[in-house]
Amino acid sequence: MDKIIKGTHCLIHLQNLRHNLKILKEHLPKRIKICPAIKADAYGHGALRVARFFLEEGISFLSIARVNEAIQLRQGGIECSILLLGHCDYREISQLVELSLTPVVGSIAYLKLLEEETIKQHTKLDVHIIIDTGMGRLGCSPEETEELAIFIDKSPYLKLAGCCTHFPVSDSSKKEHKDFTERQIESFKKSIDQIKKMNIDPGLLHSANSGGIIFHENSFLDMVRPGIMLYGYYPEIKVNPTLDLKPVMEFRSPVTYIKEIPKGTALSYGLTWESSKQTKIATISVGYADGYNRNLSNKSNVWINGKAYPQVGRVCMDQILMDIGMESSIETGDYATLFGPEKGQPDAWELATLLNTIPYEITCGINHRVKRFYVE
Ligand SMILES: *Cc1c(COP(=O)(O)O)cnc(C)c1O
Repeated sequence: MDKIIKGTHCLIHLQNLRHNLKILKEHLPKRIKICPAIKADAYGHGALRVARFFLEEGISFLSIARVNEAIQLRQGGIECSILLLGHCDYREISQLVELSLTPVVGSIAYLKLLEEETIKQHTKLDVHIIIDTGMGRLGCSPEETEELAIFIDKSPYLKLAGCCTHFPVSDSSKKEHKDFTERQIESFKKSIDQIKKMNIDPGLLHSANSGGIIFHENSFLDMVRPGIMLYGYYPEIKVNPTLDLKPVMEFRSPVTYIKEIPKGTALSYGLTWESSKQTKIATISVGYADGYNRNLSNKSNVWINGKAYPQVGRVCMDQILMDIGMESSIETGDYATLFGPEKGQPDAWELATLLNTIPYEITCGINHRVKRFYVE
């Protein structure tokens, strides 16, 4: 019965995911590996299903942010290399090694803990050095890189399988930000040269997130780490898109009730909206508990049967109200699209702009109460 689409849900348009991957492959030289970011439940799209999709498409490396995100993946039969993009809590290290994750490492202390655990479990572990060239979040300084590389090289239990860095402003079109990113790439390459000078193989080199991929050819190196662009959004809205990406997620909810109200009727919590004429109001079964932010109250539009209607009154925990006018032929059971890929529909950038945020927060904010259905 799970297959029957009903209630409030997300449609995950796999053909759009396939399209975005194809656009990405066409954009990159052939030899470059792709390591999709499927952290935060694949930005809300469902990590296990999305991981399987990527493996079917020939991808062999995935990345996540937390150790516990790997549990469902390994239990679900995902056996490929999984890059762990953050340092874990030291209490999770045994699980990290058990799950055979590939951690990024930015300190000797963390390396020592990883080595100790690897010995304990009679196994070996691939690690990637992360070098902080300007993000300021994780990573050793360029000067410390040598020391980390030597430690790993000397350890019979650890293998230096790669080196990486991360960009804070690769998606920006400002000149100073473009220069900043290029300087990061230079600094990263210098650190790598030092490793090579010691006759140590640095492994796979990678730096590019979606911003790097779209705006900085120099950042491609051996592998790229795309996230948001695969899910169909540019990381920055203030640029002319050169790549034709298609949003993958469509967030839908049914109309559950319709009534007529006279002019001058106020409604929903706080009575923040009042009808200026006689109209029909549709109740939709979605609210802030699903990830439809309360700050959208009286601001957003919702798409029903090919037309946009204003959402009116406060967004409640589980319901919202639409002013659908006297003329519309909307009936209960019709689906409203809160955001989606089709022309005319609001998309996640539109909601993000109303909320002064980015589409990442919109798609990964859709609650687990909302079922995901995968459509080809
Ligand atoms: C999330 C993340 C990415 C992907 O970023 P997008 O902007 O979604 O492409 C790449 N690298 C690291 C280290 C990340 O944390």
